[in-house]
Amino acid sequence: MELGKNHIGFTYTATGGKTFTTFNPKLNQANDITFTEATSEEIDTAVALATEAFNLYKNTSCKERALFINAIADEILALDDTLVQMYCQETGLPEGRAKGERGRTIFQLQSFANLLSEGSWVDATIDVANLDRTPFPKLDLRRMDIPLGPVVVFGASNFPLAYSTAGGDTASALAAGCPVIVKSHPMHAGTGTLVAEAICKAAKKTGMPDGVFSNLNSSGIEVGQQLVSHPKVKAVGFTGSIRGGRALLDLAAKRPEPIPVFAEMGSINPVVMLHKELEKNTSYWAEAYAQSISLGAGQFCTQPGLILSLKGEVFTNFTNLLVSEIKKIDSSCMLHPAIFEEFQSNKKISQSQSGLEVLTDENSVESPNFAPPSIVRIDGDLFLKNPILHQEVFGPYTLLVECESLAQMRTIITNLDGQLTASLIATEDEAKASFEIIEALQNRVGRLVFNGVPTGVEVCNSMVHGGPYPASTDSRFSAVGVHAIKRWVRPFSFQNFPDSLLPEALKEQNPLDIKQTRI
Ligand code: NAP
Repeated sequence: MELGKNHIGFTYTATGGKTFTTFNPKLNQANDITFTEATSEEIDTAVALATEAFNLYKNTSCKERALFINAIADEILALDDTLVQMYCQETGLPEGRAKGERGRTIFQLQSFANLLSEGSWVDATIDVANLDRTPFPKLDLRRMDIPLGPVVVFGASNFPLAYSTAGGDTASALAAGCPVIVKSHPMHAGTGTLVAEAICKAAKKTGMPDGVFSNLNSSGIEVGQQLVSHPKVKAVGFTGSIRGGRALLDLAAKRPEPIPVFAEMGSINPVVMLHKELEKNTSYWAEAYAQSISLGAGQFCTQPGLILSLKGEVFTNFTNLLVSEIKKIDSSCMLHPAIFEEFQSNKKISQSQSGLEVLTDENSVESPNFAPPSIVRIDGDLFLKNPILHQEVFGPYTLLVECESLAQMRTIITNLDGQLTASLIATEDEAKASFEIIEALQNRVGRLVFNGVPTGVEVCNSMVHGGPYPASTDSRFSAVGVHAIKRWVRPFSFQNFPDSLLPEALKEQNPLDIKQTRI
């Protein structure tokens, strides 16, 4: 394998003239490998290969695709320390995080392989014919989910493994039967190339068609734009900023044939703290939230960026303890100088807003790209009137809002943009007494946490990682958990088909032994 090249199906190419390197934010220096951005012709070739591969890949059995996806997991594990070292070099994140994220990636891949091995995910539904029905006979109708076609996946800056090359979007699209073209994230192009090689090895070993997967390097928006505009691409997965996700959504909508864009974007993840519970366990919640706010230098989409509580002694005590816990935590290295600079600039804009009080923002490590966790405070009234303060500051930054009343708190929640998560810190009794707060939160988010922190997204069937716009572009779907497969399929009906021509999932004798809903 040649690390700086593109994977166009099973072929490595680097015909373009535009090159770039990744960056080690801890050492504050560029890494050695030179990556070559994909050219317009290479993009066309990757899409043409994916289109051809789709004709074969969509007809592979679920069991064959399960073998392929399990083989990807095995090949990623076989990369061992090479992958961990590359990940750390390109992100400044510690080895423990790299291994943890690799474990999550493997688990996600295996979850989709298990889903395929069982097979019922296609939602086979059979309306049996009733030719005696009057006044018109009822015909035999059978529906199932079928794959959309080639999917483009944009790797996330903050999850080089779990939401990038072989992450949740790729795993779910491949499971659905869609070839994938990854627009590699330029901040971790080396990690991406290693994983791309693992996917191609797995595809060859399990007999998957050339073009079932491609990985394209890029250091600007042009490659992604050409991919999203390409008439043969049928859907897009994205994790990143609202600005980027929205641009791609608009681009996809303007195509002669618009296509779905499943983008997971910004979120400030409001936390509501009610006084009885907060008073009972003040130091516990101060410690738990200090950890959650600063985890991974705050570079998580579920980072708690906003805490709402009633003004008064209980919240003041909590605030004082939270600030003292935060001061014990060292500044940490952000993923890339660009992300660090954006954090600094967004923080400055937020901190300069009228009435905002900075409670802590002390840099304990004076090193480039290291950011201190910062806590700021404002009155409910001023927060409500200032939309700038409703925006995400991606990094270890949290705004505490002192509300005058529960009614004001509810108005604030109602006026927030859509969010991935919200959390409620309360005793069961006070939660029952403030049910209108729970309802207001439910209207704005995809997941509501009771007495916990929003960071730590379990990969399981009932997880919802999505939410009303702009947390995601389609709140009906989740980017995490096996239901994520539903983003890449469309429902399809066979009417009056002979059994011999039906796919196995819909045959009368149910040879796959899956759940068939018969009506
Ligand atoms: P980003 O700027 O949204 O970029 C994500 C990917 O989309 C990159 O590969 C980028 O390409 C591409 N892209 C961006 N704008 C595009 C456009 N107009 N047309 C086509 N492609 C486009 O996010 P990022 O660089 O990964 O991180 C920067 C910021 O994103 C962070 O500071 C943070 O605010 C946010 N972020 C949020 C989350 C979250 O989960 N909420 C996660 C990660 C990042 P190039 O890089 O090649 O230009």
